[in-house]
Amino acid sequence: MNWDLTSYFPEFNGPEMNEFKETLRKDITSLREKATVLMPLDTSTEAEWEEIFVENEDIQVRLSHLSSYVGCLAAADSRNEAYLKEESSLALMKAEFSKLRVELLRAIKDAPDEILSSFTRRQRFSSAQYYLLRLREESRRTMAPDKEVVAADLGVDGIHAWGRLYDTISGKLEFDMVFPDGRRERLPMSQRRSLMEHADRRVRRAAFEGGNDAWQTVEDTAAAALNAISGTRLTLNRHRSVEHFLDIALFQSAITSKTLNAMFEAIFAGIELPRRILRLKAEFMGTKAIAWYDLGAPLALPDQQSPSWEQGKGLVKNSFDRAYPALGGFLQKTFDKRWIDWEPRPGKRPGGFCTGSLLTRESRIFMTYNNSMGDVLTLAHEAGHAFHSHLMRDLRPYARIYPMTLAETASTFGELILTKGLLEDPSISDSQKALILDTEIGHGAIYLLDIPVRYEFEKTLYEERAKGEISVSRFKALMVEAQQRIFGDMLEKGGEDPYFWASKLHFYITGVTFYNFPYTFGFLLSRGLFAMFKKEGPDFLPKYENFLCLTGSDTAENVARRSIGCNLESPEFWAEAIKSLEEPLKQLESLKLDLPKSP
Ligand SMILES: [Zn+2]
Repeated sequence: MNWDLTSYFPEFNGPEMNEFKETLRKDITSLREKATVLMPLDTSTEAEWEEIFVENEDIQVRLSHLSSYVGCLAAADSRNEAYLKEESSLALMKAEFSKLRVELLRAIKDAPDEILSSFTRRQRFSSAQYYLLRLREESRRTMAPDKEVVAADLGVDGIHAWGRLYDTISGKLEFDMVFPDGRRERLPMSQRRSLMEHADRRVRRAAFEGGNDAWQTVEDTAAAALNAISGTRLTLNRHRSVEHFLDIALFQSAITSKTLNAMFEAIFAGIELPRRILRLKAEFMGTKAIAWYDLGAPLALPDQQSPSWEQGKGLVKNSFDRAYPALGGFLQKTFDKRWIDWEPRPGKRPGGFCTGSLLTRESRIFMTYNNSMGDVLTLAHEAGHAFHSHLMRDLRPYARIYPMTLAETASTFGELILTKGLLEDPSISDSQKALILDTEIGHGAIYLLDIPVRYEFEKTLYEERAKGEISVSRFKALMVEAQQRIFGDMLEKGGEDPYFWASKLHFYITGVTFYNFPYTFGFLLSRGLFAMFKKEGPDFLPKYENFLCLTGSDTAENVARRSIGCNLESPEFWAEAIKSLEEPLKQLESLKLDLPKSP
């Protein structure tokens, strides 16, 4: 592994780690015992509950530490059985912790408003009010405590086990890659994405087809997992009196349905813009439309380089330094302290993520760098996440928990800074700039077409799952239908990806539902923010940092209003953000005549 994890623990399964685990386990149990016997919140129990809420915060800190550590190890070496075993023992501990949470929810569920409001005003809860109010809202959607306890217990071997099974299978899955010259290679699935961003369409198609042949061999398992995960959620929703399955996603995203609708209203009204992006892509390829595996296709340019890891790091660093020195300085720290695992290795889980410990207040970045421009962007993206945590490092843990809608803002902002930096860099050739513009607008197509496909698919999935189990063929049909509807005639007939529901890890994350629209939300929001940065210059950055620091202390609408003065509930805000893609699209359109056709 490339990263240094010793600040978590000197060694895996060493005495420090085992002692830490044992203490944590005991503390969770004893705090839960203390909480279980206590009457709900009122004037007589206020002081004791205060103590419990504060201790709970400390446990949360330690649990994030352990969980981040084990998550790092298991992602970097998914074949190591000791890590997998540790993951399942951690899942047990998390279940114990969620039972403690059940008690906290019980404490405040029926507390009269005036008791609750005096409780949240207690001095030890300064800057934790928002957290407590969210807990109160969540408590309104809980079952009786004993039922919640059973649900948490069963979750370990139920919904979360399905998610772990999916992770194990996708980590081990390999596919047969047949290169255009006839060479055959068996590759881990984690390398498929980069191959699908290859300039040669034949390579992309081969990775797509070989990959889907592999997914077909596990289609029944994937379908069973997806049915179980969605079915469990629907059952719990029913018992928790949740009116609509989207309510949970909205709550987790800290947005109102008005905001979500405003965003999709703007997206569907402006759908021709991302389709125009694909039309240009198709023209470059010499085709009328594109296939699913062309979505990540770069332009085929003669001097196209595959940046080495060192070069990729340099590109991100220089762009950050020029536009936003504080961000550049932070990135250098992540290099110096070896916070990144980047190397391609068999047994690595696919995808990239940023994780962190609330205890050490450090982050780690997981990714597989395969020398593509997309991988360079992934680095800027994950570094954006890490910088967000860095800015919040001195806030109390309860004020550091932010929703994914706002998490993706910092990461996309990082990508935009990289893009701008590269476009302004005189040492970068025009054809490389074309490549960068193509990547920027290509992302626009992903966030405005691909992600809406996932969102629409998942919505239909829940509607149909409510009536019964969904078959493999139905999953395929639903996925193909959503792709055709949203891409329109820009998607080739037969160019759909019927296995996207199986290959996309995001559908199998058990802790979050609708792990899709927050990406588009963050993408558009950060484009909106970035447009302001371009206009206002460095004066904007304190407002931006204020925005990021507030993300754990208010709803998304309020964070935007308080820090940058924007109204997220109005479609106009989103329409403006979408329109910001016009400029790079036009720039690229004006370059197109000089470009050769790709093979
Ligand atoms: Zn992200």
